[in-house]
Amino acid sequence: MVKTNTPLPLIDLGRQYQSIKREVDGAIAKVLEGAQFIRGPQHNAFAREFARYCGVSSCAPLASGTDALYLALRALNIGPGDEVVTVPMTFIATVEMLVRAGVKPIFVDVDPITYCMNPAQLGNKISSKTKAVLPVHLYGHPADMDPINAFARERGLFVIEDAAQAHGALYKGRRVGSLGVLGCFSFYPSKNLGAYGDGGAVVSDKKDLIERILKLGNHGCAAAYNYEEEGINSRLDEMQAAVLRVKLKYLDAWNAQRRRVAQLYGEVLKGVGDLVLPQQASECESVFHLYVIQTSRRDDLGSYLKNEGIASQVHYPAPLHLLRVFRFLDLKEGAYPMAERICRRALSLPMFPEMTTDEVGLVADKIGAFFKR
Ligand SMILES: *Cc1c(COP(=O)(O)O)cnc(C)c1O
Repeated sequence: MVKTNTPLPLIDLGRQYQSIKREVDGAIAKVLEGAQFIRGPQHNAFAREFARYCGVSSCAPLASGTDALYLALRALNIGPGDEVVTVPMTFIATVEMLVRAGVKPIFVDVDPITYCMNPAQLGNKISSKTKAVLPVHLYGHPADMDPINAFARERGLFVIEDAAQAHGALYKGRRVGSLGVLGCFSFYPSKNLGAYGDGGAVVSDKKDLIERILKLGNHGCAAAYNYEEEGINSRLDEMQAAVLRVKLKYLDAWNAQRRRVAQLYGEVLKGVGDLVLPQQASECESVFHLYVIQTSRRDDLGSYLKNEGIASQVHYPAPLHLLRVFRFLDLKEGAYPMAERICRRALSLPMFPEMTTDEVGLVADKIGAFFKR
C-alpha cells in the first residue's frame, strides 16, 4: 500500500465524536426510547444548563443562530422603520436578519486589534430611528463591551450580542452573551459548542423577553393553539439538545485546548514572513473559534497550503456592505477600510481542540517554507 499523508482539515469533528462517542450515542438512544422529540426534557434541561453556563437566568433554545438573531429583534419590537448599528465584518446572518425584520442596518468599522466593533466610531452613526447596537464577538474574541454598553445606555438603545462564534469567551471575567440585554448563539456543528445538526439560542437575564422568544419560536403560541401573535417555527429538537448537553460539559476544556493551539501557533509563527497574528485585548479571553492570520500574499499562501495537504479558508472574502445582496444599501468600497483590508488579507488556519503539537508544527513548517521560496 502506498503511504499517503492524511490532509489536515480546518476542523476535525470526527476526532471529537470519537472522544465522546459512548456518551453521545447513549444520549441519542435515550431520546429515541423516550419518543418525545420537540420541547421535551432535553430542551428544558439544556435551557437551564446553558443559561447557567453563560451566567444569566434564562435561555430560549431555537432551531438556529439565524433565528436567534431574528427573534431577538422581534422580542424587542425592533422592526420596519428602525435602524440597528452593527459591523460589516461578520457572517451574513447578522445583517440578513436585520433586513428580514425590516430593519435598516447601519455599519461602523472594526477595530484593528480585535476585528470587532470599534466603539469610537459609534458616535456619528446614530439617528432618531436607531433602536439597538449589535456587536459581533468575531472569531471567538469579545467585542469591547464596556464603551458599547455605556454609549447605548446614554441613548436608551438596546445592546444585542451576536455571540455565535464565542461560546465561553470572557470579557473582564464575564461570559459573552450576558453582557447586553440579549445574547444570540449558534450551535452549527463547527461552532465551539456545536450540535450534530442546526441549533441556536438566545440567553438573557430578562425572563419575560426569553418567554416571548420561546412563544415567537412556537408560532406565537403561549398555550396549546392559543396564537397570541405571528411567530415562526424555531425549536431546538430533543436529539440536538441531548448532544449539546453532553458537549457543554467539555466546552471549557475544549476552549482551553483551542487557546493552547493558538499559543503554540503564536510561538512558531512569530516573525514569519509578513504575517500578522491574532492578538488578544488584555481584558479578554478569546476562545479562538478561528485562528485567523493576515498576510499580503493570502491567496498564494492558501493555494500553497492546499497543495501541501493543509486546509485553510477565508473568513470572509468580502465585507457585507460590498455583497451584491446588500447593494440596495448603496454603500461603496472605501466606506469601511479596516473591514475591507482584513477581508483582503485574512486566512484561517486549522484550529480545533484535538489538534496536536505536531500538527501545529507541520502548518508552521509549511508556512515558513512558503515565505522562504
Ligand atoms: C454561525 C453564525 C451565525 C448564524 O448561525 P446559524 O446557526 O448558522 O444560523 C450568525 N452570526 C455569526 C457571527 C455566525 O458565525
